[in-house]
Amino acid sequence: MKSDVIIVGAGPSGIFTALELLDKQPDKNILIFEKGNPIGLRKCPKRLTGKCAHCKPCSITTGFAGAGAFSDGKLSLAPEVGGELPEHIGYDETVDLIKYTDDIYLKYGADPHIYGIDNKEAIERIRKKAIRSNLKLVECPVRHMGTEVGEKIYKKIQDYLMNQDNIQIFFNTSVEDIIIENNEALGVSTQLGDYFADRIIVSVGREGSDWLEQLCHKHNIERTVGKVDIGVRVETRNEVMEEINDALYEGKLIYYTPTFDDKVRTFCSNPGGEVTSEYYDELAVVNGHSYKDSSAKTDNTNFALLVSKGFTEPFNSPIEYGKHIANLGNMITGNKILVQRYGDFIRGRRTTEERLYRNNITPTLKDAIPGDLGLVLPYRIMTDIIEMLEALDKVTPGLTSDETLLHGIEVKFYSNKIKVDDHFQTSVKNLFTLGDGAGITRGLIQASANGVYVARHLFDE
Ligand SMILES: Cc1cc2nc3c(=O)[nH]c(=O)nc-3n(C[C@H](O)[C@H](O)[C@H](O)COP(=O)(O)OP(=O)(O)OC[C@H]3O[C@@H](n4cnc5c(N)ncnc54)[C@H](O)[C@@H]3O)c2cc1C
Repeated sequence: MKSDVIIVGAGPSGIFTALELLDKQPDKNILIFEKGNPIGLRKCPKRLTGKCAHCKPCSITTGFAGAGAFSDGKLSLAPEVGGELPEHIGYDETVDLIKYTDDIYLKYGADPHIYGIDNKEAIERIRKKAIRSNLKLVECPVRHMGTEVGEKIYKKIQDYLMNQDNIQIFFNTSVEDIIIENNEALGVSTQLGDYFADRIIVSVGREGSDWLEQLCHKHNIERTVGKVDIGVRVETRNEVMEEINDALYEGKLIYYTPTFDDKVRTFCSNPGGEVTSEYYDELAVVNGHSYKDSSAKTDNTNFALLVSKGFTEPFNSPIEYGKHIANLGNMITGNKILVQRYGDFIRGRRTTEERLYRNNITPTLKDAIPGDLGLVLPYRIMTDIIEMLEALDKVTPGLTSDETLLHGIEVKFYSNKIKVDDHFQTSVKNLFTLGDGAGITRGLIQASANGVYVARHLFDE
């Protein structure tokens, strides 16, 4: 049987493609293949036991709504944040699409409140301090769904899609290969058999970026050498971050370091949140989230500090490079997340259980192993992180206290950048890629907006 569209991966980019197709082209038949579970069956044992059970596939990163389901659910509403959509479709169209996509999240129950626009005076004060430290404050209105509300919103979208006659979703079904003949995509191979369609959309997220890279090699799908973002997750008390948390919810700050002129940025801040670990196959990497419910808030704020590293010829494996560094961390912790006090980090000594115990800041990630990030991070990245923290300390005094916790390694695997045309078609005819897996987006709203855009132009001649 041949359908009109096959979507590989039911993350935000894939499901917003389906939603928009339903709206604009209701006569099309759509098959969605998702390697994880439907949202109601996505359960992370760690949330109950505090211990990762190494589920395969991981419920945090796979299943309906992809990495979005248990994310912090922060919708960053500025086009500058969360991906490179403006470079592909233009700034103004990105603004319109973000608004359109945000309205869909609102329709499904997202909180109408937007952070980061009310408190002009406080924002000016923060910007003034940032400028003095050579930091750029990116203003970004944020809608915070919260982990638990986000999950409910995606569940409603799932129910809606599953109730449509012309959509079939196959859960627990990995697409193993794309069927390509004469440089034209015809269908997909799965453990259930081969399926054919006029258009194949690959929206596999970071979880599927390795697989996508292998496909590129196998089928000569053109790519450009991407970059990789490597760093740590910083955890401090809410009091230290109070001014930024209250005024902006998430302070997005960018710095070019004095020694190496590398770009370092703050990313994914979680006021009152928890540091989390996520697994890509066996590899533990750090992340963070926070609940909307105030009774579930912690005393800590966490955010990532990411160093962006671009590479030039002949190097073409940024994903492997990032994984290699994360692997080093896993090697010395037995596949766990490493935690180190900032005071120990700059003195080049290991954080011990005893030093961690006397810390004022208690780690929210309970199974993190105290250790030494100096054994893991390259000198250049360590220097970048120290210089960024010193600059940030002038905006949020207290950040470079000995007590601040650094968790490693945080790596963003969106570096496999596929060459696409204006409509996100790859060098293979009728094969489209989008979202985080294609290296185009890095966040929920841009991934979702990317899906809307692809759907709108999918059958353009
Ligand atoms: C812990 C965490 C917190 C986050 N918090 C935020 C936040 O607060 N705000 C924000 O904007 N962003 C956040 N993000 C990032 C955000 O979740 C992603 O940018 C977004 O989900 C990307 O959407 P996507 O559709 O491109 O990919 P994904 O959401 O990764 O979805 C890809 C889907 O494809 C499936 N898949 C992969 N390979 C195959 C295959 N071969 N066959 C079938 N299916 C396959 C996967 O199972 C997955 O469900 C967070 C991410 C994580 C992990």
